[in-house]
Parts: sequence; structure tokens; C-alpha cells
Amino acid sequence: MPTHHYPRAVATTCAALTLALLTSASMAAEEAASKPFDPTVQLAPYLEPIIPRPEQDKQAADKLQALKERFGRSPNVLIFLTDDMGWGDAGTYGGGIAIGAPTPTLDRMAAEGLKLTSTYSQPTCTPTRAALMTGRIPTRSGLTRPILTGEKVKVNPWADEVTAAALLSDAGYRTALSGKWHLGEQQGSWPHQTGYDEYFGILSVVSEFSQQFDERLYPDLVLRPERLAALRQISEAAITSGMKGSPLEVSKELKTIEDLGQLDQDFANFSEDFIRRTANAGKPFYLVHAFSRVHNDNYPAKGYAGKSPAGFPYKDAIVEIDDIVARLIGVLKDTGQLENTLVFFTSDNGANEDLWPDSGYQPWRGGKGTTWEGGVRVPGIVYWPGTIAAGRQSDGLFDLSDLFNTALGVAGASDRIPSERYIDGIDQTSFLLADDGQSKRDAVFMYSENNFMAVRWMEYKVHFRVFETHAPRRNLDESTVSEVGMSPWVYNLYMDPKEQASIGHSRFEWGIPQVMQRAQRHAATFVDYPRKDIGLGKP
Ligand code: CA
Repeated sequence: MPTHHYPRAVATTCAALTLALLTSASMAAEEAASKPFDPTVQLAPYLEPIIPRPEQDKQAADKLQALKERFGRSPNVLIFLTDDMGWGDAGTYGGGIAIGAPTPTLDRMAAEGLKLTSTYSQPTCTPTRAALMTGRIPTRSGLTRPILTGEKVKVNPWADEVTAAALLSDAGYRTALSGKWHLGEQQGSWPHQTGYDEYFGILSVVSEFSQQFDERLYPDLVLRPERLAALRQISEAAITSGMKGSPLEVSKELKTIEDLGQLDQDFANFSEDFIRRTANAGKPFYLVHAFSRVHNDNYPAKGYAGKSPAGFPYKDAIVEIDDIVARLIGVLKDTGQLENTLVFFTSDNGANEDLWPDSGYQPWRGGKGTTWEGGVRVPGIVYWPGTIAAGRQSDGLFDLSDLFNTALGVAGASDRIPSERYIDGIDQTSFLLADDGQSKRDAVFMYSENNFMAVRWMEYKVHFRVFETHAPRRNLDESTVSEVGMSPWVYNLYMDPKEQASIGHSRFEWGIPQVMQRAQRHAATFVDYPRKDIGLGKP
């Protein structure tokens, strides 16, 4: 049974097998024939195996070439990253008006673009952001869990990680992070020190600030002046900003919960200005617009209190997100960039059940913090009028680490991907752009911190470790990670989407060896590309 302590002999055998795959096309074909369940090839030792799809690659390349001739510059990439939004919050995924928060913009983008139904994040904020930006799963970069208030990591994770922003900036893009960072607050780990030409946002997370202001939720801190003063010495509540090569500046001190309510309007103002400036300068851009919403604690922006039919702050925040997406899509249109921009909308993890009623909805088991579907299956809406055919839907696998490779693929800058480190992401450009594009990803590997937990393969979810919660809605606050017994816990997500009745031994005996083979091949990558420990382990 694979664990995170893999037998070296197995790992070496797999690495050797992988190398053999590369030696010649004929050997690869022979290898493929001996593994009828495995359509993948590995193009280089540092790259994740892909399902080759040359015809759709050609179609996507032709589309990109035509765009370049039309616009005279490379396409823009705009990633909307919400915080803790559930798979089921938007109307297009079954929520919306039915659960008291209509999302007409997201629904329209999905209808006029590509709706992905199997997009996977990591279980919490920091790991997903790290994977999205570096193309590497958190157990490699060391960013395995959120960095907490005032916590100092012993090794700067950014000393030797490479972001898509850095590679695209080198390739002539203007790159920016607007909104939440949460990938290190120390000198050397600010966004404008890791590849973003411009940064405007918050280095941590909104709850780090609300705990300083909201006496109804945190009276034991807010109403205790000495404690509060001590906390404020290590946690500065502010919107900060910076330009590449310049220091960090305080743009706006945050003093009240009303200030927190305005955060996403402030971020939207920056993003609008950035898009307009960059379009005018004739440069392509890569913009990660990372909402503070809908992470707890949600306070309505001006004009949003009670605006949703539900009337709760979380639902008002969903309505605000939809409005901000509409606003920035409008800016793309105004500036003539709408048809030259890949727009990807997603969330950094599933809804946080622990915080209900300040939390979202998903039709799956579990929530944020777990590797049940509720923790890691997130919305994925891809929108590019004129390039992505309207009305597409796909259940093909997409891991948010794929956005690293895909941003570079769309930009025509894949050759800048470094080769001395393992890249878990896959270039999914042709999946997204070709009219009948299929995913090039064969499996998604799921982790909780450094624990290898589960694999999604085809419509199956195979758990080698599981989260057990000891009280309802206590996924983060009262759960343990358990080993499974002799059989992995297996769920057919088409027949059992809520992962309620394992069929591991009784109905999936045929598939377990296939998944084991993938888990072992994955484990083998750690032999040549070891993990990094930045000191986020438990005491
Ligand atoms: Ca999050």
C-alpha cells in the first residue's frame, strides 16, 4: 500500500521504467501496449505524464496563431480566484438563485464558454495558491498548510520556487497580483519579489484582521486591550502594495469591519486600473485577481447588506463577487481585450463547513480542509469569446497546478518552464481551446500537508488515507487523518458522488492495481526530486 514512505526499490524500478519510456518511440508504443489502462506518455523526467492529443494540440495552436495575427500581441491571462467558495454556490453548478444568491455573470460565462465539473484544488488556501503559481504540489514546495498569524517560516519557500508570473514577466508580460496573497509575509516572499511586477492586496487573510475588530465574534481578544496590543505587534491590518524592485508600502490601514467590507471593491479598483494601463501600453498581461471573499468573516460592502435574496453576509458576498467579475469582464471589453484574454474562474478550496452560516455550499461529502470531494472539488469556468466554443461542458480532470503550465502554453512561453525541478502541472491549453478538447490529465493526486491521501482516476476516487471528523461540520477543527484497512476506500463518483459507500474490495478489485501503479509512479518522482521542508510541520 503506498504511503509517503515509499519503498526505495519500488521507486527505483518506476524511475527506470519512466526513463525507458523516453528512449524511443517504438519502446513507448510497446510499453503502452503492455499497459492497456495507461494511455500516458512522459515527455521528460521532470514533467507529469500526459495523455497525448496531437489533433487538438494542432487546433489550439492554429487558434492562437490566428489571434496573434489579429491582435499583434500574445493573449492575456486573467485568473479569478475566490477564497473558500463552494462548488455549488454558483447557479451554473446548481446553486445561485435556488440558494439565495443569484450569479448571472458566472452562469452566462459558463454557458458561453467551458464549464469544467472536475476541477481540483488543494484542501486549504496556501497550498492551492502555491500549486497554482508554481505548478508544483505543496509537498514539493513546502507550502503545505496556511501560514498563521505572526508565524515565521524557517526557510523562505520563494528562495528557489519559480512562479508563472516570473516566467511571463521575463517573456514580456506585465504581471500583477490583486488581492489575497497568503504565501508568506516575510521580506523575500512578497508578491512583487516572486515575479509579479505589481502587487496590491493583503499578505495574509481577512480573518486575521476581523479577529482584531469584531467584538461579537472575538470578544476574548478584542475586549482584552493587552492581548489585542500584543497581537497587533505581529499582525498589521493593512492593504499593502509594491512594485518589482521596490519595498512594501502600506496603501490603506484597515481599522474597522466596514473597511474589511470594502476590501474586494478596493482590489477591483486596482485590477480595473491595471487592465486599462496595460492595454494602453500595448502589453499582454497575466493578472491573478484573488478575492478576499468569501473567506470568513464576510462583512457587506457598501450597498450590499441584504442585497441577496438570502440576506446573509455570505450570500451578499457571492452577489458582490459576481458583480466584480462582470465589472472586470466589462473592462476587458472596453479596452478591446475581451477576445484576446483567457479568463479562468475558480476557488482555492471547497466551502468551509466549520464556519457556517458564514460559508458556502457543495453537494459533496466534507468541506475545506479535507480531501473528500467537498474540500477539493471546486468551480472551473473558462471563458474566451471567439476562441472557446460556447456551451461546452467537460468532466475531464483539471488540477489547479495545470494553470501554471497552461498560462505559459497560451502565452507561447512553455520553453521557459525550468527543467531542474519536478512540475506536477500539465499544459491543458488544447483541452480548454480546442472545440472538442479532452483533458490531458490522467490522475489527480491529493494530499493533506505531507500525507498522501487519495487519487482521482476516471470516475473513481481512491483513498489511501481518510479524514474522519468527530463532530458535524468540524472538518478543520475536530478531525483526524486515519489509515485505511486492507482495502483502499473507493467511491464511484458517478454512482456515489457523496462518497458514502466504499466499493474498494467488492466492486473495484480490477482497478486497484491500476491506481496503485499510478501512485507508485508518482511516489518515484520524490527520489530524484525531493521534498522541501520550510518548517510548517506540527510540533
Ligand atoms: Ca481558502
